This record gives sequence, C-alpha cells and structure tokens, in this order.
Amino acid sequence: MKVNKDKETIRQYLSDESAAFSAKPDNVEAVYFPETEDELVEIIRTFKGKITISGAGTGITGSRVPIHGGIVISTERMIKPGKRVQCRELSHKGLAGDFFIYLDEEKHLAHAGPGTSISELACVLPRNMIYPPDPTETSALLGGTVATNASGARCFYYGPTRNWVVGLRLVLSDGEVVDVRRGRTFADENGIINFTSETGKHYRIRIPEYHMPDVKNAAGLYSKPGMDLIDLFIGSEGILGIISEISIKLIRVDKEPVSILAFFRSENDAMGYVDIIRDMKDRGILAIEYFDRNALDFIRAQFPEIKPDLDAAILLEMKAESLDTLAEISELLSRFNEVEDWCATTSSDLRDLKEFRHSLPDSVNAYLKRHESYKIGTDFVVPVRQFPRMMTKYKEVGEKFKHRFPRTGTHYVIFGHIGDCHLHFNFITASDGERVYAKELYLELARTAIALGGTISGEHGVGKKTLLVEGRNIPYLELMYGESGIREIARVKRELDPELRLNVGNMGVV
Ligand SMILES: Cc1cc2nc3c(=O)[nH]c(=O)nc-3n(C[C@H](O)[C@H](O)[C@H](O)COP(=O)(O)OP(=O)(O)OC[C@H]3O[C@@H](n4cnc5c(N)ncnc54)[C@H](O)[C@@H]3O)c2cc1C
Repeated sequence: MKVNKDKETIRQYLSDESAAFSAKPDNVEAVYFPETEDELVEIIRTFKGKITISGAGTGITGSRVPIHGGIVISTERMIKPGKRVQCRELSHKGLAGDFFIYLDEEKHLAHAGPGTSISELACVLPRNMIYPPDPTETSALLGGTVATNASGARCFYYGPTRNWVVGLRLVLSDGEVVDVRRGRTFADENGIINFTSETGKHYRIRIPEYHMPDVKNAAGLYSKPGMDLIDLFIGSEGILGIISEISIKLIRVDKEPVSILAFFRSENDAMGYVDIIRDMKDRGILAIEYFDRNALDFIRAQFPEIKPDLDAAILLEMKAESLDTLAEISELLSRFNEVEDWCATTSSDLRDLKEFRHSLPDSVNAYLKRHESYKIGTDFVVPVRQFPRMMTKYKEVGEKFKHRFPRTGTHYVIFGHIGDCHLHFNFITASDGERVYAKELYLELARTAIALGGTISGEHGVGKKTLLVEGRNIPYLELMYGESGIREIARVKRELDPELRLNVGNMGVV
C-alpha cells in the first residue's frame, strides 16, 4: 500500500473546496492510500491515533480536513470492490487506475468501490442505465457522496443519495467489518439497533433522540423511529466508520430528458409558474432550478444572448416520456408572461443547458477572484408552505446587506433547487467588515429557516462549520438541534468509536 509522508503530498489533503478550513502540515503524519478493504483494516488496527477520511475533497464544510492531526486515509484508490459472481464485470480507465463495478442488470444494482467518482461511474454504466443522484460536482467520489448524502437538481424527483444506496460495507474504528444491507436491520420500539460484524462481534446502538425536520436534509445523523441501520451510516460524514464498498440502485432510461429554460421579467410570475409545476412532479418533472436577476447577470458573460432586465429564470427538466405535459407547460409559460424560453430536446441542446447551469459557480468564482471578494453561501431548505416567507426573508436580508455597504458590484446571488425549496443565497463580500455583517445576516437566515420547520443543510452537510452566536463559537449543528443534539450524536459515535478516532470535529463532536 502506498503511504506518503512528504509535506507536498500531505499539503493536498489539508483543506477542501470551502477554502475556509485548513489543517497544519506538521500535525499530519502521513497520507495512506489503501486499495482494498483488508488494507483499510490493517491501517485501523496498526495506527492508534486520529484518522481523517478523504474522498475527492470537493466538500464545502471542511469535513475531510484533518484539523485534529493524525493520519489521512485517502479512499481514491479503492476502486475495485470484491468480486461478485452472477454479476457482469465492467471496467474503465480512471484517474486512479482501472476501476471496476459489478453490475446485476436484472436487479438494476451495481457494486462499486468508494473511490469511483460520479463521472467515472457514468462512463462505465451501459448507456441506458443511470445512477439517479446527480450532484453538480462530478469529480466527487461515491464514498464522499454517500458520507454526505449528496443531492443534485434531480433530487426533486429521485430524492437524495440515501434513496439509492442499498448496501454498504464499512470498516469500524476497532477494525471490524460490517456488511449492512437495506431492509435487514431496524431500530426497535426503544430506538435500539443490534447488529454484528463479520467476525461475530455484537454492537448495540441507540439512535439519536431528536426530530429531524420534515424536508430534504443533510444535517446531522439520520434518526427516525423504526429506521434502517444503513440510514445511520449514510450522511454520517465519516464519524461512524469507513465505507469500503457501496451497492447502489440504478434505473433504465431509454431517452434523454427534455429541458426548458424560461426567462421572466417579474419574479412573482416565476414563482407562480414554479408553484404549479411543483405539483406536477408525478408526471415526470425531474428538476426545477431557479436563477435570480444577479445570477443571470453573472451567466450573461458566457451567454450574451440572455436579454437584459430579466428578474428570474426557471430551468425545468422532465422525462422525455412526459411530452404530453409539454403543451400544458407552454400554456403555463404564456399565462405567467415568460419573456422567452430555450427548449432542449437533443443531446447537444441538453449539454448547452447543463452548461448554462454549471457556468454559474464558475462565473461567480471568477468574479470573486477578480474583485478579491469572498462568498458566504447558505444551504437552507424549508417546507413548501413556508417557502414564500423564506423568499421574502432572503430579499429583506439582501437589501439590508446592500444598504449597510453601498458600493458598486454584486452583493448577493440566489440560485438553486427551488423545486425542493432549497436555494443557495450567496453573500458576495468585499471586505472584512462586510464578512462580519454577512455572517450576522447568515445567522438570521438560519434561524428563520429553523423557525419555519426547515434545515440548515439540504445537501452539503455540516462538517466542521461553526457559527458565532452571542459571542460564543458554536458547532453549526447546535443551532438546529441544541447542545443536547450534539451530545446525542457524540453518544452514538462513542458506541462505535469509543476513543473518538474517526473524523473528529465533524458534526460538532470533539
Ligand atoms: C462546484 C461544487 C458543486 C457542488 N455541488 C454539489 C451538489 O450539487 N450537491 C451536493 O450534495 N454537494 C455538492 N457539492 C459538495 C461536494 O461535492 C459533496 O459534498 C460531495 O459529496 C463530496 O464528495 P468528495 O468525494 O469530494 O468528499 P470529501 O470532500 O473528500 O469528503 C466529504 C466527507 O465524506 C467523508 N468520506 C469520504 N469518503 C468516505 C468513505 N469512504 N467513508 C467514510 N467517509 C468518507 C469525508 O471524511 C468527509 O467527511 C459541490 C461542491 C462544489 C465544489
């Protein structure tokens, strides 16, 4: 197994895409690159200190950042799952070498290593089969997306990663291996889950005692009466064990989806349109994405054909089989005074519209670099009936920020998964003073989302994020579940990792 102790390699694992967290190179002893589950077990059994697990490092909450030192285990070379008889073996050349998946075409299942990236997985699958979760950043590894319960635009129809994971193999902090299959092990009426490792070691866990908000949610450990054991590990940000193999459900898709990007001069019109198409989900509406006026201004640099003075755009994706719905949507668009729409029915048009959506983060990042600015982005979700109130709050907070710091340039940009009432409000800050105020406003927004029955994270997770609340820096998750919620998570962690070795610092557990 490759182990690297040189500072240059270690340095690559000291931060993530957030650029808000960094670990000290001298605190990290080495980066290990296991290729098999056995090698993973060997590391856990021989090294006795703190361990941080790394995927591709595209996370934006510092969750793979080894701020407590010890070693890093990079899972990027874990690209060959154990051989599965009665499955078709498919392989492809990836960045980390030849990766393999085992495909059970009849059952629509695939078994993959955690180091397989989302884009590599798409390359290796037969053309008419897809893995529905579609996080935007496709260099993310399957292991990382399971550990964060990642979602994408099509989460509106297909749900998050959780809905598509049917099996996990994990190495626990004591070096034991557990094979968890969906539908086999559940919490009893007292919230207790009993299970055994492959060598027969017995574990007894009581699930966290808190109520999760009833919205798309990636904050904290999963907890629901009668829950399946596998759901405790999905979205657990690596604090309970290291995923060594993943079994996922696939679907057969014979035609590419259809996309319609509609532009509006009035935001009220855009919202009226969204309210109606949200209710048409069961007819094959896969994704509903929103772009505010500022987002369109950013994208215009790359798509100059976007007309001036637009207030909002809505990108809708629907199954090709739902073409009869298309006529209805056209009628709706004229009822809500659309300015124009771009419709994609061919692969190349679809690529253009995907490019449209993906160009936004790039344009924002380029702007930040040019203006030496810094972005503070939210990930809140609220229940549908509360969404208008949250939207009003976003606007109010945006105006407050502009009013306090009048200057040229953009102050904020809002875009995201409006189908799930999950928008990303991004403060664009240009000075330390602006950053301090933006963080105050961020707290105001987070409190509003919670008060409305929502969550502080719909897809990014909470990682090592903290917030300054009344002069005290608290774990981000504490805002939603209180100190007792963090204690509950710590209790569950201790049941599986009594010496607090794995991914310490995530979800506020230290
Ligand atoms: C431009 C951009 C767009 C993005 N878009 C989306 C989006 O649409 N939806 C979304 O949900 N997220 C999005 N993200 C965030 C990020 O891509 C996801 O959180 C992703 O799931 C992280 O995967 P990763 O492999 O990079 O994991 P990392 O960042 O390396 O790690 C994330 C967490 O997973 C843990 N982990 C990784 N592998 C394992 C394993 N094998 N076992 C146990 N724990 C493990 C790590 O310890 C860490 O806690 C985006 C990020 C960027 C930069």
